[in-house]
Amino acid sequence: MLRFEHVSKRYPDAGEALTDVSFHLHRGEMAFLTGRSGAGKSTLLKLIAMMEQCTRGSVSLDGQDITRIGERKIPYMRRNLGLIFQDYKLLNDRTVFDNVALPLVVSGYNHQEVARRVRASLDKVGLLGKEKKHPLALSGGEQQRVGIARAIVNKPKLILADEPTGNLDPDLSAEVMFMFEQFKQVGVTVLIASHDIELINHLGHRVLTLDKGHLVAS
Ligand code: ADP
Ligand code: ADP
Repeated sequence: MLRFEHVSKRYPDAGEALTDVSFHLHRGEMAFLTGRSGAGKSTLLKLIAMMEQCTRGSVSLDGQDITRIGERKIPYMRRNLGLIFQDYKLLNDRTVFDNVALPLVVSGYNHQEVARRVRASLDKVGLLGKEKKHPLALSGGEQQRVGIARAIVNKPKLILADEPTGNLDPDLSAEVMFMFEQFKQVGVTVLIASHDIELINHLGHRVLTLDKGHLVAS
């Protein structure tokens, strides 16, 4: 489903952020990406999200090489991805409904389909009934669940999460991880960058470890 082949990434006027990284994830696999600050985790996620391009090697998604994909195809390819961030990145002046609906509106779905899918997503994260609230009226855990609902509303094949539990206490972190495990059950591939070694070890999924841009364990 996701394949890195001999991927290196050098930023202009900087050392290599990633060096000769190869791995693959199967459909429905859940894996953690870990390593110290500066090890290259965000860079690896950005290559998959097509926010950066690799310097050497190739990245493919569902059999399609996204390394040298044309600019115009990027928005279309991104629909296969659900992105989740540590700081939620919600629009605080919009309702929960509007936040979750955003990717669908961008994709051009009609009102009825948008409403149906937004409710289905909110149901999956246990937030049905909170449609009209604004994000800041919710707890941190609830805000992250809105972020998750937004990430899954397009039914992506791959979910990328960058420190999704970084601002949550252990109970809420466990809750968020439980949700990811449910997506895995329905065939979604999940890659989670995290520092939370305790949580990672507890869950027992595959772990990809980066050290100064090298993949040292998988
Ligand atoms: P984290 O450690 O939480 O992944 P960082 O603090 O390393 O985040 O990076 C935050 C943002 O700044 C990222 O988008 C990253 O790509 C960018 N960044 C990190 N280091 C540099 C740098 N040396 N020059 C420019 N941008 C950088
Ligand atoms: P992590 O997410 O593991 O903290 P990053 O991928 O953010 O690591 O960073 C890996 C390395 O690349 C770091 O040395 C960082 O300073 C550098 N880096 C990240 N983004 C940029 C950028 N936009 N420009 C230059 N250097 C960057």
